[in-house]
Amino acid sequence: MVDFRQMRKVIKGFSGEIDKGFGMEVVEYKKEIRNLVWQKRCGGEKIGFVPTMGFLHEGHLSLIREAKRECDVVVVSIFVNPRQFNNKEDLERYPIDLEGDLELLRSEGVDLCFLPKVEEMYGEETFVEIGAGELVNCLCGKSRPGHFGGVMLVVAKLFNIVGPDVVYFGQKDYQQCLVVKKLIEDLDFGIEMRILPTVRDEFGLALSSRNSRLSEEGLRAARNIVQILYSVERSILTGKVVVSELIEEMVNKFSVYSGLEVDYAEIRRAEDLSEIEEIDGEVVVAVAVNVEGVRLIDNILVSCT
Ligand code: AMP
Repeated sequence: MVDFRQMRKVIKGFSGEIDKGFGMEVVEYKKEIRNLVWQKRCGGEKIGFVPTMGFLHEGHLSLIREAKRECDVVVVSIFVNPRQFNNKEDLERYPIDLEGDLELLRSEGVDLCFLPKVEEMYGEETFVEIGAGELVNCLCGKSRPGHFGGVMLVVAKLFNIVGPDVVYFGQKDYQQCLVVKKLIEDLDFGIEMRILPTVRDEFGLALSSRNSRLSEEGLRAARNIVQILYSVERSILTGKVVVSELIEEMVNKFSVYSGLEVDYAEIRRAEDLSEIEEIDGEVVVAVAVNVEGVRLIDNILVSCT
């Protein structure tokens, strides 16, 4: 494996200037990343942070590019967090391509990549548990018990380790965005949060690392998900307001496709995911669908005044 730290030193020594493409430091240890970020912060630089689980695609890159635009230093973490997987098989099958990811991060001009091992992130046991209530127990939290507890724990740890000014998350994981927003508020992290739109392929399918596990046929089936979300949007915009009827319509549309197995299909208040009987204000239409045993999520926001 290429030693990027070494490469950086060589380039630094050679030209006195870090080449944009090769200037990324890759660090495994908390102490190291903390020190590096601290040095930058002491120089008055604004730190942007993008946490990821790797197998990067254009969705991740959209967050990184926004961070590059807004911040002086961009930190990206790659960590497949075992605590947020309630299903061992799902964790074991999570796609990994470290070499490819580092290549992409370097070409995007990322400054620091934090790549901790599980042992570095967690001790034997963790005493602290974070998160309670409907927000973490509905939708993905209902289908994946403990998922958001694991997400919040790792996100809180990463925020404490990296100490960013601004963090970047994707709307694709809408519930996660709301959960992290609450985490930042409740624990007074004093961090700005940016939520960026879902990046889709040319057929509208939300990009996801998990898409790599689908066959051509699975991909074709998965591309219908967003079309169904858009059809619900059209129904809302043409005046349908009864949520139970809209959900029934949505579930019926999914049942037409044999390759799409609905885990949940919901319409909730966008602000806090609370249940509603009638459409009023901004709502999120959110689904989780199993395709060839791969769990895909997607959502759209619809505003109705
Ligand atoms: P992950 O690696 O799946 O944990 O995702 C890391 C971050 O990238 C999260 O904030 C996700 O919401 C975001 N993300 C993943 N897929 C997309 C996408 N298609 N468009 C925008 N952001 C995304």
